[in-house]
Amino acid sequence: MSVTGPLTRPDGTVIDKTALRRKYLEERDKRLRPDGNDQYQRLTGRFAHYLEDPYTPRTEREPKTDDCTVVFIGGGFGGLVTGARLKEAGVDDVRIIEKGGDFGGTWYWNRYPGAQCDTASMVYMPLLEETGHMPTEKYAHAPEILEHCQRIGKHFGLYEDALFHTEVTGLQWDAQRSRWVISTNRGDHFTARFVAMGIGPLHVPKLPGIPGIDAFAGHSFHTSRWDYDYTGGDPSGAPMDRLADKRVAIIGTGATAVQCVPHLARSCRELFVFQRTPSSVDVRGNHPIDPEWFAGIATPGWQRRWLENFTANQTGGVAAEDLVMDGWTEIARRVRAKVMTLPAEERTPMTMLAAFEDSDHEKMEEIRARVDAIVEDRATAEHLKAWYRQLCKRPCFHDEYLQAYNVPGTHLVDTDGKGVERITEHGVVVAGTEYQVDCIIYASGFEVGTAYTRRAGYDPIGRDGVTLSEHWADGMRSLHGIHVRGFPNAFFVQPTQGANLLSNVPHNLTESARTIATTIKHALDSGADEIEVGQEAEDRWIALLLTGPGRMRRSPDCTPGYYNNEGQDPGRRALLNVGYPAGPSAYFQYLDGWRTSGTFEGLEFR
Ligand code: NDP
Repeated sequence: MSVTGPLTRPDGTVIDKTALRRKYLEERDKRLRPDGNDQYQRLTGRFAHYLEDPYTPRTEREPKTDDCTVVFIGGGFGGLVTGARLKEAGVDDVRIIEKGGDFGGTWYWNRYPGAQCDTASMVYMPLLEETGHMPTEKYAHAPEILEHCQRIGKHFGLYEDALFHTEVTGLQWDAQRSRWVISTNRGDHFTARFVAMGIGPLHVPKLPGIPGIDAFAGHSFHTSRWDYDYTGGDPSGAPMDRLADKRVAIIGTGATAVQCVPHLARSCRELFVFQRTPSSVDVRGNHPIDPEWFAGIATPGWQRRWLENFTANQTGGVAAEDLVMDGWTEIARRVRAKVMTLPAEERTPMTMLAAFEDSDHEKMEEIRARVDAIVEDRATAEHLKAWYRQLCKRPCFHDEYLQAYNVPGTHLVDTDGKGVERITEHGVVVAGTEYQVDCIIYASGFEVGTAYTRRAGYDPIGRDGVTLSEHWADGMRSLHGIHVRGFPNAFFVQPTQGANLLSNVPHNLTESARTIATTIKHALDSGADEIEVGQEAEDRWIALLLTGPGRMRRSPDCTPGYYNNEGQDPGRRALLNVGYPAGPSAYFQYLDGWRTSGTFEGLEFR
């Protein structure tokens, strides 16, 4: 029984909540597997070449042996916004180290056809106001975002000392000199007074552990290193003319596949999409940005206003209007409206959660009805329906994905939650049938639930020789998700233990960048050699985080995916993978006050 009255589908029929819950659990159970994250494999050995940079030739250079003021590891949005804020603060000597051949991070690597931001450009693309760029579309495509990264790099002079095609192999605190010693795979061995790390949450591509994956004799690649030499076309969506006579398999139907499948469907002789779990695909509603409209809204401080407005709307904060008006804010708007149907005296945490579930059931029925309305083949439409709550997996928004299944030659091969059975020399096997193909494209995602240091590729050694993995053996510990006890003059740029805002990661990065620049500037101005978070401050922050409601990853009835550690108990350590209990908007406000007070409470400057 629903707390908010009868729940209805778009066609007016009543939703049987009990039956729906049962169906969700059945679908989850089909997919649960004991090996969790271990089902995936890294791109090593025979697959190591998948990781080569197809976009920029590597140039030789002399190893660096100098001393820098600030080193930032990672040339994606985190490095760019932090570098920019440091330069604005007058800290000129900033060196960004990046494994790709240019700035961009995820947007450097992910150039697959159709790649596009899933969050509105106005809030997703950082430093628009500072660089004077007007996004061309509500959801900008990847080439524009990559170009914007380069724009930021040029605008703030970040290219001058950047080291591209360079991976950090060692990072060690030298207490005698109050310096970080950095080694890289290019033979560099230099020091830095301050080091910041923004390695990104999704940058290590992974492959599914499908039996026989080594055996395939045709061509294959991972979506994050798209092989345009093989397919033809380019990242701006030009037709992939070399696929006209090819039978192509794509394995995976997550957010990446949702964006590139329509392009493949248009280009391939035959396309086979191998699906384990369908994504929920709601309306995109992209459109060009009108310069006249933009000129009207782009008054000083506009992007910060938009960021704060989006975050407030999307996470249940207070906002008088919804500036972005998209699928993300709609989720929150609908939940709020549902909660408001409860009489005030009946609004308890339990009834509000039940109202959230009611809203979700109606939304997901809408999304499933959309499949029926678009996909012509009934069996295909049934297979494309997602049977889980919308936030169990990354919600997708697209206006051409479902339509792609109406294109002749495009076949959905649903595996009923089991995944691909086997790969052979000639193709892909599901339920005993071999689909012979010329090429397999792995849209199988990136490592998420693995240890930070495993994904970073180095394990920072802090004070007294303690490594970060030792320090975090029982879970992450920090102040604000940025400062870590025992790792002086080091800063972490990532969402966990801060705002933990997942629908718009750049907002987290923008605020961390302000904090880092302000803190480093203060240390330099006050002549402090070292900044370190006090033990008590770190303990207090952790205690505060643990008063919060925890996170979705512990939701046991979600279908497996990286949001819930592939359905496996993430262990006690994961209890600390949370955000500020009062939510992202409150966190950003708190952090702003912390910064502007000038007292840097919790940090010791020595
Ligand atoms: P995902 O991890 O989301 O998807 C991997 C896919 O591979 C899933 O559909 C998974 O199925 C499938 N898979 C895994 N193993 C098998 C198997 N053995 N047989 C068949 N299928 C299998 O990776 P993506 O690259 O799609 O997306 C990763 C993240 O990157 C997104 O969640 C999003 O956060 C981000 N992203 C953002 C975009 C944006 O903002 N514009 C665009 C694209 C990605 P199952 O679901 O059953 O595990």
